Parts: sequence; C-alpha cells; structure tokens
Amino acid sequence: MLYDNLSVNSSGHLAIAGFDACDLAAEFGTPLYVLDEDRVRANCRVYADAMREHFPEGSMPLYASKALCFKGIYPVVADEGLGADVVSGGEIATALAAGFPADRLYFHGTNKTDADIAYGVEQGVGCFVVDNANELEVLGREATERGITQRVLLRVTVGLDPHTLEAINTGRVDSQFGVPIETGQALRFVVQAVGTPGIEVVGFHSHIGSQIFEATSFCDQVDRLLAFACSVRDEMGYVASTFNLGGGFGVRYVESDPQVDIAANIAAIAEHLRAGCADANYPVPRVLMEPGRSIVADAGTTLYTTGGTKHVEGYRDYVTVDGGMTDNPRYALYRSAYTVLNASRAASTADFECTIAGRCCESGDRIAENISIVRPVRGDIIAVLTTGAYNFAMSSNYNRVLRPALVMLHDGEARLAVRRQTVEDLLALEL
Ligand SMILES: *Cc1c(COP(=O)(O)O)cnc(C)c1O
Repeated sequence: MLYDNLSVNSSGHLAIAGFDACDLAAEFGTPLYVLDEDRVRANCRVYADAMREHFPEGSMPLYASKALCFKGIYPVVADEGLGADVVSGGEIATALAAGFPADRLYFHGTNKTDADIAYGVEQGVGCFVVDNANELEVLGREATERGITQRVLLRVTVGLDPHTLEAINTGRVDSQFGVPIETGQALRFVVQAVGTPGIEVVGFHSHIGSQIFEATSFCDQVDRLLAFACSVRDEMGYVASTFNLGGGFGVRYVESDPQVDIAANIAAIAEHLRAGCADANYPVPRVLMEPGRSIVADAGTTLYTTGGTKHVEGYRDYVTVDGGMTDNPRYALYRSAYTVLNASRAASTADFECTIAGRCCESGDRIAENISIVRPVRGDIIAVLTTGAYNFAMSSNYNRVLRPALVMLHDGEARLAVRRQTVEDLLALEL
C-alpha cells in the first residue's frame, strides 16, 4: 500500500485508518471524500517540530487553506500550533467561523478588493501578505482610519523556476504574483511600504512553486531573498525579521514518486540560512512556510461507486465512476497521476488495465488512464488515493453534479464534516 494508514481487512476490503472503505461508502454514500485526521495531524507535526527545532523562535508553518478549506480543518491545524494562509474573504470567514485565531491568519491575494482589505483589517487578520503597491495604499489608508498598525509581509518574486534550476528562468520574473527583485521594483516597494503610515513591514514573502521534492530549490530561494534583504539594508537601513518561504513540498501520489523527508529538508534549509546570514552578518530571521498539499493530500481518499466496465474493441477498457472532474479536476487540468484501487476487492491482483472515467459530458473527464486495478463489477467501490488537497477545494457543479460529502476519521469515529450537497442547495441561489 502507498501509505501506512491503508490496509486490507479480513473482508478483503480496503481499510483507511482501520475503517472499512465499503462500510464508509454504504453509510455516507458516494462519491465520498474521506479524511484521516490523524494523518493530517502527523503531517502538521513534522513541520511544526522541525521548524521549532531548526529555525529561530517564532518560526512556524502556516497551513495553506486553499488546498482544503472547510470549517473542520481549522481546529485541527490550530491545535497543532499552525497559523493559516488565506486568500479570500471566504477563506477568512471559514477559518473564523471555526474559531481559528485571527492573529494567526496571513492574508494573501493578487487582487484584494477594497472590501476584502476592509474586512481583513476589521477582523483583526494578523498579517497581510501585500502583493503590490495599489494594495499597500488602500491598506495603509484603511489601517490609519481605524487607528491601528497593520503588520505586513511584502511579496517579492525571486525569479526562480524550481523545475529548471540550471537555466535561471527569467520568465518567472514575469508573474502576476508579487513584485520582482530583478527589475529593482521590489526595492522601491519596500521603500514605499516602510514609509506608509499604518503599516509595519515585518519581512518578505516569496513562493517558488508546488510539488518540490528537494531542499535545493528552497536554498536557492533563501540565497536570493537574503541577497535582496542585504541590499535593502544597505540601501535604506531596513532589516527584515521574517522570511516567508511559501509552500510547496511534494507529495507521493504514485509508487514511482519520491518520498520527501520534510524534516531533513527543513534542517538543510535552516543550516543554509544560518550560514548565509553569518556570511552577510544579517540577523537570522524567523521563518514561515506555507505547506498545503503536504499537510492534507495523503490524508484524503475519494470513494466512488463504479457503474461497471466498458470495453471498446481494439482500444481499451473503461471503468466509470459516479464522480470525476467535478470532485477532482486535477487530471483534466494537469494530467495528474493517481493511485486507484478497487476497495471491494483489495486483496486480489490488480491486473485489469483500464481508464477511469467520470460522468461529465467531457472526454477529458478522467481520473487516471492506463492503470491497473482489480477488475470491478458494477457496484464495487473504487478508491482514489491522495485526494486530500485541491479536490474538495476545486470541486464544481458542472453538469449540475452535486458535491460529495466529506467525512473525517478520528479516534475510532467517522464524523460527517460536510454534508452532501442537495438539489435544494443547488437551486437555493436561483430566483
Ligand atoms: C499554493 C500556495 C501554497 C501551498 O502550496 P502547496 O504546494 O499546496 O504546499 C502556499 N503559498 C502560496 C503563496 C501558494 O500560492
């Protein structure tokens, strides 16, 4: 099995954290998102412990809400000592509705509207990650009018493509996120921010990408951030107390993906940062990271009921499921690889080569192509692993397919955390 929380039970069914997947499907219906809370907690702890051990005091992981945002996730990450990164009024409202402390929220976004900014300040969001000069102006005004000082990080782009490290891809400077260092604009951004009444600049944020499997990319990022911080210090005397390195450690979706030792990578990044700071005579900043995928992805499994198989002579076999791109658009968007199992026959040999197709009127509505599972019959439960991140969060009502329910597993209990959408929900907004 891909993960150690998965097993085959005495009925020959897939068990997730000890829960029979077929029983879960029978109790809650399909499609069903299943989230193993203990695995989420364990993932949180890897970051929290390693960051506490290796980085200066006050360093911590912020859970990137966009990966999986619903009320039930916030008490878990809050309990594990994480902050959270949020990107919209909706994510802020969800976190606050779940009792998440506002001062541990970091508010991202390329185009925060005036209403977003006012809402964030009013709710006491701990830190804004300011994307651009326009936002800075509105935020400064908003804070001043309310007589508060708003803490901010300034988002800069370091001009780094983690996938093509050798050839420094200046294309990454050309991005809608943040302000580029390379063009000199980031320096002017800091000058503006430090001089804006109502604003306290605590440091810099940069995010280089997602699904990163080694520390090297983060070390290159640290080099560039530190070089930038030094030039800012030399130019205007401002010293940053915080570096936010963004999100991005990779997750193992299929057996052939590497397994990241996150704690070891964090140790390596910290070592690199300390050495760089010593060389530059720069006080070692506290560090924030924003893991999303690597907190929730491998804790999630989606269960479907299959409508059976279809053989297209001379071509291939299809297995249809009662969901698809509406609950998991990642194959349609990125051709993402997934591990798929026949949960009803998990003890048998997976020798039926097939393509898993969804129920939408789109030939691209697939979950996986040319994979092997145990040959299913209509009614079998199909499990797609590693769907905790960017599945529920990216789900849609295309073809008016209803959104699945989400169940959390913890302490021997399967708890419905998000109920299945109904036709009434669907029609509720329509006058
Ligand atoms: C997407 C994103 C993250 C989370 O990325 P993961 O790959 O899910 O860890 C964190 N920070 C920012 C700014 C992002 O855009």
